[in-house]
Order: sequence, then C-alpha cells, then structure tokens
Amino acid sequence: MDFRVGNGIDIHQLIKNEELILGGVHIQSNLGIEGHSDGDALLHALTDSILGALAIGDIGDFFPSHNSKWKNANSKIFLDFSLDEMRKKNYYISNLDITIILQKPAISKYKNKIKNHLSKYLSIEASQVSIKATTTDKLGFIGSSKGICVVSNILLISNEN
Ligand code: ZN
Repeated sequence: MDFRVGNGIDIHQLIKNEELILGGVHIQSNLGIEGHSDGDALLHALTDSILGALAIGDIGDFFPSHNSKWKNANSKIFLDFSLDEMRKKNYYISNLDITIILQKPAISKYKNKIKNHLSKYLSIEASQVSIKATTTDKLGFIGSSKGICVVSNILLISNEN
C-alpha cells in the first residue's frame, strides 16, 4: 500500500488590532496574527504537512515571505497549490490531525466550526478532520500570549493502490 505521512509546524507572533483567522474561520479576539499573508497559521501548517508528505519542499520555497506579492494574500492560495500538487501526484487525504497551541483567546468553541469548514473546503468527511487545541499552561511565548503555534499531521493515500 502506497501512503505518505507529513507534518507541518507554523508559528506566528500575536499583536493587537490584527485579525485572527484560523483554518479560514474568523476568531473573535483582540489579538491577531501578524504575517506576510493573512497569517492563517493553521492553513500554513496544513499546507506544509501536505508538501512534506509529498517531499517537495516547504511553503517558503514556493511562497517566499520576502516577496511582496504574498503580502495580505489569502492563505487558501498556498493550500490550493499543495492540493494541486497532491492531486497531480495522484494522492488523496486519508485524515489530518491538527493541534492549535494558543493561550488566549480560548478557541475550544471554534474547533467544530474549523473542522466543518475545513472538511467542506477539502471535500472530505468531518470524521477525517481532527482539530485539537491546547495551551502551554502559561509557559513561554505562547503562554504570555505573544505567539501561536499550529502543528499539522496528515496521511495521504495513493489512488494507485
Ligand atoms: Zn505562517
């Protein structure tokens, strides 16, 4: 059986008066993500996990942050690119497991919304998408609400099996 596992990690700084978008879902918060695109750390980690499973590089190889073209870009552009590569290589998503590590705001009430939004966007079942959330128990840069980290793991299966 031909299957491939990938992981992706994305960290961003949190600053005041910026939007917080995770997995394409707007999160109500007075802290948002500063990033060269729309700063959707969840989509960035997911994109990197797909690129990783395909072993073709990372998000920065294809969308370098020094290129002003990607300033304020919708992160779905990055995800769509990785999905196109996945389809070209004849793989499909078996399941994905994402952990959002964030102290504030509490996002547990958004987990289902993100899960449903992502499963629709990826045209897979909600049962194939896991969205988890945790804090760092107030430790470190995440604990002091200076940043956010998202970890994505994905399993791709070949259509040629
Ligand atoms: Zn990012």
